[in-house]
Amino acid sequence: TVGAITLAQSGSMAVATSTSGLFMKKQGRIGDSPLSGSGFYVDSEIGGAAATGLGEDIMKGCLSYEIVRRMGEGESPQEACDHAVYPFIRKLKKHYGKAGEFSLVAMNNKGEWGVATNVEFTFCVATNKEPRKILMANPGENDTTI
Ligand code: ASP
Repeated sequence: TVGAITLAQSGSMAVATSTSGLFMKKQGRIGDSPLSGSGFYVDSEIGGAAATGLGEDIMKGCLSYEIVRRMGEGESPQEACDHAVYPFIRKLKKHYGKAGEFSLVAMNNKGEWGVATNVEFTFCVATNKEPRKILMANPGENDTTI
């Protein structure tokens, strides 16, 4: 999945996802990517989030909505990602004995961003103030520029 969150100069925000789904998926399977709240969510007054990875697990946590909800409560995008994603991974492991690989990105309506992942995950931040950055996130660690 490719997920994108945008913030216009007007303050309006949008989020989009594009995916081919999972390799060897069953015909008719619908992953998280087209589902508002799971694969993506945005509220221009707060921010947006987008997900990639095992849709069946992402859907169990409505993770994109949960991240935006947390930002609405005052958490930074990074705090919201950390607090929504890592406890949920622990919960999946506790209940199902495993968690699929997934990664989430978030941006608030100030242009601050965050990411959480349980795999190595590459993402990109583009602004009109600084050159485009390509970053790498590692599970549970802070982001590092590559
Ligand atoms: N999230 C997608 C799905 O489960 C797969 C992906 O991220 O590539 O359909």
